[in-house]
Amino acid sequence: MHGVKKEDEGCASSSFFNFKPGVEQDRPDRSFFGLSLRSCTRHAATHHGRAGTNSLGAVWFFHHRLDVNPEFLSVDQGYFVQWLVCRFPKAFSNIFLNAIFGMLIFMKGLTDTHAHLCDPVFDPDRSLVLENARQAGISSVIAVAENLADAEKNLFLADTYPMVRPAAGLYPTHVDPNLASEMHDFIRNNADKLAAIGEVGLDYWKIQEESDREIQREIFRNFIALSLELDMPLNVHSRSAGRHTIAFLLEHSAARVHLHAFDGKSSSAHPAVEAGYLFSIPPSIVRSAQKQKLVKKLPLSSLLIETDSPVLGPVPRERNEPANAVIVIKAIAELKGLREEAVAEAVAENTRLLYGGK
Ligand SMILES: [Zn+2]
Repeated sequence: MHGVKKEDEGCASSSFFNFKPGVEQDRPDRSFFGLSLRSCTRHAATHHGRAGTNSLGAVWFFHHRLDVNPEFLSVDQGYFVQWLVCRFPKAFSNIFLNAIFGMLIFMKGLTDTHAHLCDPVFDPDRSLVLENARQAGISSVIAVAENLADAEKNLFLADTYPMVRPAAGLYPTHVDPNLASEMHDFIRNNADKLAAIGEVGLDYWKIQEESDREIQREIFRNFIALSLELDMPLNVHSRSAGRHTIAFLLEHSAARVHLHAFDGKSSSAHPAVEAGYLFSIPPSIVRSAQKQKLVKKLPLSSLLIETDSPVLGPVPRERNEPANAVIVIKAIAELKGLREEAVAEAVAENTRLLYGGK
C-alpha cells in the first residue's frame, strides 16, 4: 500500500524515486501521483535545486500528455522517465524544457506566412523540407505565388501536403494587365481553396519607369478590390516602396493586410499598425539592422513570422527553408526582452486572427 512519503525523506527512501525500470512493482495510481507530485516537487527543490523542480515540471507535463493521449508514452515509459529525471536532474532539466517548449509551439501551431514552396529548388526534397519544418514547430506554411504556374502548383502542393496553405497572386514586377486579369479569374474560381491573395504589391526597386509604375499601381488597386470583394487576406510585397505601399493600401481601404519583409522605415510603418495591418519578419533579421529596428518599434500584436524561402535566410545565399521561421521567434524574443513562449503565443494568435486556423 502506497502512501504519501514524508517530504524530507531522501531520494533513496521515496517510492517515487525508488522506481526501477523493468522491475514489476506496485505503482501509485493517478490520484496518488497527483498527491505525491506536490511532495516530490518540494523534495526536488530541496535535494536537486531548480534543475530538479524543472525536471519534475517536465514529468508532470509528460503525465498530462499521457492523460490526453495514452499513446504518447506508455505507463512504464512514463515511470522510466521519472526515474531517469530524478537520477540526472540537471541533465534532463534543459532537455525536457526544450522538448516541452517545442511541443507547446507545435500545439499553438506556428505558421510560416510567406514561402515560395513551389520554387523548383524544393522539387528534389520538398517532403523532407516540410517534415523538418513540422519538427521545428511549424504547423502550416502559406505558399505564395508569383504567377499562374506557381498558383496552380500551390494548389497541387496543398492537395499533397496538408500543412500547405496555397495563395495566388502576381509578382509586382509583372506589369501586364492581361496576366493580372487571368490571375483574377484563377482566384475567383479557386477562392474556397486559397488562404490569401499574394504575393502582390509595389516594387519601385525593379520598376523604375513612371509609366510602368502606374500600371503596377493599377494592378495592385484591382487586387485590393478583389480582396475586399472576396474577404481574403492580401500577402503584400513592397520593395523601395514601403511608405507608398502603406499609403496606397489605406487610400483604397484595404482591410486584411499582411506586409511581408517590409523594407521601409519603422516610422512609415506606423499608420499600418494603426490600421491593424500585420508585418511578417524573415530569418534574415539575424543579419539585418533594418529588420531589427522594425521589430523593436512594432508592437508584438503586429508581428507574424515568415521565411520567404528559398531566399532571406539567416545565411546569405544559402537555401532558406520554412523550418527557419522559428529563428524569428527567438530573434523577436531577444530584441523585445520577452520569453520565446510569449512571442510564439502572440504570433500564433496574430496569424489566426488574419488567416484563420488550420
Ligand atoms: Zn516572396
